[in-house]
Formats: sequence, C-alpha cells, structure tokens
Amino acid sequence: HTEETLLEVNNIEVIYNHVILVLKGVSLTVPKGGITALLGGNGAGKTTTLKAISNLLHSERGEVTKGSIEYRGERVQHLSPSDLVQKGVIQVMEGRHCFEHLTIEENLMTGAYTRKDGSSAVKADLEMVYDYFPRLRERRKSQAGYTSGGEQQMCAIGRALMSRPETILLDEPSMGLAPQLVEEIFTIVKNLNEKEGVSFLLAEQNTNVALRFAHYGYILESGRVVMDGPADELRENPDVKEFYLGVS
Ligand code: ATP
Repeated sequence: HTEETLLEVNNIEVIYNHVILVLKGVSLTVPKGGITALLGGNGAGKTTTLKAISNLLHSERGEVTKGSIEYRGERVQHLSPSDLVQKGVIQVMEGRHCFEHLTIEENLMTGAYTRKDGSSAVKADLEMVYDYFPRLRERRKSQAGYTSGGEQQMCAIGRALMSRPETILLDEPSMGLAPQLVEEIFTIVKNLNEKEGVSFLLAEQNTNVALRFAHYGYILESGRVVMDGPADELRENPDVKEFYLGVS
C-alpha cells in the first residue's frame, strides 16, 4: 500500500449462516482525503461490505472467510467496532439509528464516548457539528424520534463526527429522503471531506447523486466488483449510463 491509502480491502469473501456466499472476492481501496462510492442495486452486497470492514457481521451470522482488510497497513479483522473507532473508522448504519428518546444534542454527545480529551474539546466539536448541520442546532432540544428522516440522517452523521473520525463508512445516506434533502446531505459530506479532511466510503443505490459527489466509484453486482474508476469516467461510461443512470 502507498502512504495515501487508508483502507485496503483485498479479495474478501463473506458467507452468511455458513452456506450463503454473498461476497465473492471484493477488493477496494479508500485513499486519504477521498470520497469513495460503493454502488450497485438492491442486494448487490454494499451493506455486507461495510459491515465486514467494521466487523459488524457476527450478529448476523456472517463471517469473512477469505481475503484481508487493512487500515493504515494494519490488519483490522480481529478488532471490535469500538476498537476501530479508536483507530479512526466509524460506520453510520443504514436506517439512521438515532436514539429516539434522546434529544438531538444528547444523541450527538453519545458519539463522544470514546473520547479521552476534555469536555471543552467535545463542546467545540459539538459547535463544529452544528456549524455543518444548522438544522441540528435548531432542533438540538427535540427528541430525535420526533424529527424528520433527513434530520435523523444528519444526526447519525453528526454523532459519528463526534468521535473525530478519519474515515466514515456511510451506508445509503439518501435512503427514503426527498431529492432536495439528499442534495443537502451530500453537500455537507463534501464540505466535511474538503474542510475537515474526513475520508468517506459511501454505499449508495442512488448512482447519479453518488457519482456527482464522489471521487472514485466501485460498482458491485452479486457480490463482485464489476467496474471501478474515477467518478467522472464512470458517469461517462455507456454501460453505467444505461444500467445505473437511466440514460442511454
Ligand atoms: P441493500 O441496498 O438492500 O442494503 P446491499 O447491496 O447493501 O443491498 P446486502 O444487504 O449486503 O446488499 O445484501 C447482499 C446479499 O446478502 C443479499 O442477497 C441479502 O439477501 C443477503 N444477506 C444480507 N444479510 C443477510 C443475512 N444476515 N443472512 C443471510 N443473507 C443475508
């Protein structure tokens, strides 16, 4: 790996319930400072790939049976999700997963639990999150369960930011959101990438929006990477246009 590489997934295979082969040799690289998109239709294996990286497959009876996953050149397959957070990698799961009975601000503060620095640094980061997500500042006293889907997605990303991550694994941020909100969230992701230097690996079915904001993309089909390349090249590729962008 080069110095630029943060995450390197090399030829991983994932099997659920000992028999269902879902990933059939997936390789990908996440460079420092990049937004990398993992694309593909329903069931292609995007979520499974993210969960394999953050070691979240056990509870679903899934396991990585082949290949390797390295972060900064170090094997991370034996690490728990919270050890990975310490290393700077955090996953924002599909479906938002805010604590519904806590306020937005309380949710954000739960993201700082791994932090060993003082509360003034944590407070400063809370302000940083509010600066990126003004809607969260407005809604900070609201119970998360009563906020909109878009606000809950923002809350989930904001909470992840509170751990001061180097890399965020973001699963399907556009899911169930109106186009204008999708645009708003992707714009914030881009700002976080450019201004805070956070690297992203984002899984998306919405190829169109993902390729407008990402630098590089991988397309998964039935557990295999069938194509990869710089985002602007993928957007011009005739097959991508026909099968994923809805134009030919
Ligand atoms: P989606 O957009 O629906 O999340 P995806 O690309 O993220 O799609 P995965 O969720 O990774 O796809 O699923 C890939 C395949 O693995 C699907 O065929 C799915 O049915 C199967 N699968 C996912 N979780 C399990 C599980 N716990 N047990 C068995 N099969 C599973």
